[in-house]
Parts: sequence; C-alpha cells; structure tokens
Amino acid sequence: LDPMSFTKESKAVIDFIADYYKNIEEYPVQSRVEPGYLSASLPESAPYCPESLEDILKDVNDCIIPGLTHWQSPNFFAYFHANASTAGFLGEMLCSGFNVVGFNWISSPAATELESIVLDWMGKMLKLPSSFLFSETGGGVLHGSTCEAAVCTLAAARDKALKELDGNWENITKLVVYALDQTHFTFQKAAKLVGIPPSNFRIVETSFSTGFSISPEKARFAIEADIRSGLVPLFLCATIGTTPSGAVDPIAELGKVAREYKLWLHIDAAYAGSACICPELRHYLDGVELANSISMNPHKWFLINMDCCCLWIKEPKLLVDSLSTDPEILRNNASKFKAVVDYKDWQVVLSRRFRALKLWIVIRRHGLANLMHHIRSDIGMAKRFEAFVAKDDRFEIVVPRKFALVCFRLKPKKEAEGTELNCKLLDAINSSGRAFMTHAIVGRIYVIRCAIGTTLTEEHHVDALWKLIQEKAQNLLME
Ligand code: PLP
Repeated sequence: LDPMSFTKESKAVIDFIADYYKNIEEYPVQSRVEPGYLSASLPESAPYCPESLEDILKDVNDCIIPGLTHWQSPNFFAYFHANASTAGFLGEMLCSGFNVVGFNWISSPAATELESIVLDWMGKMLKLPSSFLFSETGGGVLHGSTCEAAVCTLAAARDKALKELDGNWENITKLVVYALDQTHFTFQKAAKLVGIPPSNFRIVETSFSTGFSISPEKARFAIEADIRSGLVPLFLCATIGTTPSGAVDPIAELGKVAREYKLWLHIDAAYAGSACICPELRHYLDGVELANSISMNPHKWFLINMDCCCLWIKEPKLLVDSLSTDPEILRNNASKFKAVVDYKDWQVVLSRRFRALKLWIVIRRHGLANLMHHIRSDIGMAKRFEAFVAKDDRFEIVVPRKFALVCFRLKPKKEAEGTELNCKLLDAINSSGRAFMTHAIVGRIYVIRCAIGTTLTEEHHVDALWKLIQEKAQNLLME
C-alpha cells in the first residue's frame, strides 16, 4: 500500500466512476446479458503475474458494466432504490481507507463510539422515544441488512421467552412468530434461522379494506387460536412501508395487542423509516413506544451507499445475553469492567466495518434540512406520477400511495386478464432499456410498482417514464 501509487490509482478509479455517472443514462437500465455471459470473456484461471490497472479498468468497462443493472440510473424505478450520494461515497472511502475492524471497543474505540453517537442522532431525528437511545437505557447498532437485524432481534426474543419457560430448549417448538402476507420474506428466513419451526410462522392475510396492512383483530384472532392450542406467541413484526405496496401497519393498536399477549413487537421500517424524519410523516411511527425494537435501512432512502441498517432496541442486554461470546483472545479490561459497548455482542458476525463514518458524514454534509428536502422531493415526484396515472382512464392506482411508491396497473377488460396484460406491459417497458420497474401481487392483483427515489431522478425522468408507459400500453391495446 504505497501512498504514491495509492493516490494515482485511486484517482484513476474515481475518474472512471465519474465517467460512469456522466454516461449512466446511455446504458439499458436493466442488464441484458444472458446467464453465464461473463465466463466467455474472462480467463479460466487467475493471473500469475500482476496486471495493470488500465487493463483491469478496460475489462470493467467491457465485461462488467454490460452485466450491471444500473441502480443509480435516474430511470431506475424498481424494487426499492439504493440511493447513493457523494457524501455516502466519501464515508465508504474513509471506511475502506482505514479498514479497521471494530468488533469490540478496544479494537477501535472511535468505531464503537461514533456508531453509538450517530445511532442516537438518527434516533432523535426520527423522534424515537428516549428508551431506544443510549442516552437512556436503550441503544442502537449498525448492521448490513434488515435480515441480520431480524435474526438478532428474533434470537433475543427467543432466548427471553425460553428463559421464562423454565429455560427448556425443547419449548422452542411452541414459539410462534406473526407476520402478514406483505411482511418482507426476510423475517420468515430469520425465524427459520433461529430455530422457529416453519409451521409456527403465521402469515396473517391483508386486504384492501385495511389498505394492505395488518388488522389488529386478525392478529388477535391468530394469537388466541395459538394460545388455545398450547402454543406460545413470541414475536410480531409490523411494517412501516411494506415492500409490495408501501402500506403501513397500525403500530399503536398492534402495540396494545403485543403488550396484552406479551409478544415482542418489532417494527420494520427498512424503506419508509427514512421518510419519518419529516414532521408531516412522523405520525406513521406513532405507537413506536410500545415496540421492543425497530430497524430501518438508510441505504435505501437516506443517501447512504450500501450497506447500512440501523437497529434500535429498548433492552440491549437481551441482545447481548443472546449473542455474546467471551473468548480468551478478545479479553480486555475495558470489556471486563463493562464500561463499554462491544458491538460483536449485538450482531451475528465478529468482524465489522466502520459503517458509522458514512452515516455521520451524510448527516453532516446534508444536514437535517436537506435530508428532509430530498425525501419531500421524491414524494413530490411520486405524486406527480400518481396524478398522470389517475388522469388516464386506461389505468388505475391499485393501492393508495403513502410515500414515493406508486402501485398501478393497466385496467384489464376482464379481471382474469389483468396479470397477463400488465406482465406484458412491464416486459415491454423494461426491455426497452429506457426504464426499469418491478411488480408485486397485492390483494391477488398484479400491480406494477414505480418506486421513485434514486438520487439522480428528476421530474423530466418521471415525465419520460410516463410517456414510455403510455406508448407501450397503446401498442399493447392495439394488438
Ligand atoms: N423490509 C422491507 C420493508 C424491505 O423493503 C426490505 C428490502 O427491500 C427488507 C426488509 C430487506 O432488507 P435487507 O435487504 O436489508 O435485508
């Protein structure tokens, strides 16, 4: 790691990335390569001698870029965005540059302390109750993904419940986890990983009448049925901004149900949590004080480059009880006298990146004011798109919009033809290379999801998307 060549080569890569961003709209948004495409262009085995950066970047350009789906393209409206920013990139550079491994406090005190501080900053921006913050009895940790956060909270909830059931591990077969048909599948995976029998993962069905969110009555009904069968309700996952449709579960009412039956309530705000920094959207978090834990992904909508998930928990001791390890090789006085946070005990893995740097830098470079502006501007563009759809009789909005996700479809002549018609429309749009959207099934209806929120998207991109949709719909209807 020679500082001279480091500077020269890093600059070359930065120039390369800057050119990529300059040309990003020229690429088809969704990659068009066929499976296995890359092995035809790359050698079968690793080089014995070093190669020049120039040659490598040429291959990145010729072989890798064609196989990218351009998530940072302003014409990317698929899944939920992963919105990058210059500040997020600078944070990633510093994180990579220092390359420290802060698994416990002593292994890099700044990594631990900055993480605790920015999690309190974020918690305050979201107006989380102080019981989730280090400044009181709670605390937060940065994971790479919601899936990791889900595994850890479920493990803590499981161990707490098993302890209350006489510490007998055989009781794990009695524990039940509740979610809804719109809950992210990551929670089902996490429940399986912590040993909850798949048959004890209850999926409560949603409907149009509840805006595709969980109905507290249905949750209560499922819980009571399980209690009557001798099972033990363990965990309820509520979502702010579901993946298929952006629906919001009624946190306050679910919180009361969770309290009544002593369930652990987790709030998954992976997508829409970022939006709750805006006072006019904060009400979606009302009732959060009744939850045991909450997570959100700043890498989705908070200008943080991948990867970054904030998890706050009211009783961090439960996480630590479940996940701590005490190998001789890591013993030190700071940990021994319990004066510090050792984040290895708040997560699955041992080694961890200094992710807090990018969160810290993004917050400082933008300030709360610009971060709110960023969210509002995306929501404004989503409203504009929604208005286009609403004005055209051939289309309909299927789910009421709450954030920057619009779920719509081309109206079929007969309901049975709805899926095929909209599938064809989506294919025609995506294969044009000019935009990329994805679909979902809500209330048994196939919808096209237009998720607005990549950093480079401007109004004229939304207008162009709508023209493209109309053009493809017209062709389809004339067929
Ligand atoms: N929860 C919601 C609501 C999501 O939208 C997603 C991903 O889109 C996840 C969880 C999964 O997040 P991760 O990929 O960080 O595990």
